[in-house]
Amino acid sequence: MSTTKERRPAIEGWFTGGDGAVRLLGTRCASCGTPYFPRNELACRNPGCTGPKDGSELEEHALSGRGRVWSYTDSRYKPPPPYMSPDPFRPYTVAAVELEAERMVVLGQVVPGVGVDDLAVGMEVELTEGVLYEDDEAEYTVWMWRPVK
Ligand SMILES: [Zn+2]
Repeated sequence: MSTTKERRPAIEGWFTGGDGAVRLLGTRCASCGTPYFPRNELACRNPGCTGPKDGSELEEHALSGRGRVWSYTDSRYKPPPPYMSPDPFRPYTVAAVELEAERMVVLGQVVPGVGVDDLAVGMEVELTEGVLYEDDEAEYTVWMWRPVK
């Protein structure tokens, strides 16, 4: 008998949405529009910003779910703690992607089955959700990039 494990985010509050509609959760300055990911709740860091700079100017912001590959590589060794990975370790591909609207580069794993030979700088990718690791109780998920078809 097989059971479907519960799915939980590996890290709480960093992304939202399910397959095909994943968005990263950051913050954005209401005064100057500067986006932050991971979220910044202290104060806007834009030196040209005229906002209050006490944190009240920062609001939650779901970043764009699409971008273009800026760089990529494969990871063939198990990363050290605190990074979690499947046991036994399976090599995976990592991409640095420039988000379309924010012009910000975000690192993430690429979905299983897509390797460095399948990627190219400038290729359009979108966010989805994938399993980072699992234990007896659940599958723990993170955002992953996949080529836009
Ligand atoms: Zn600002």
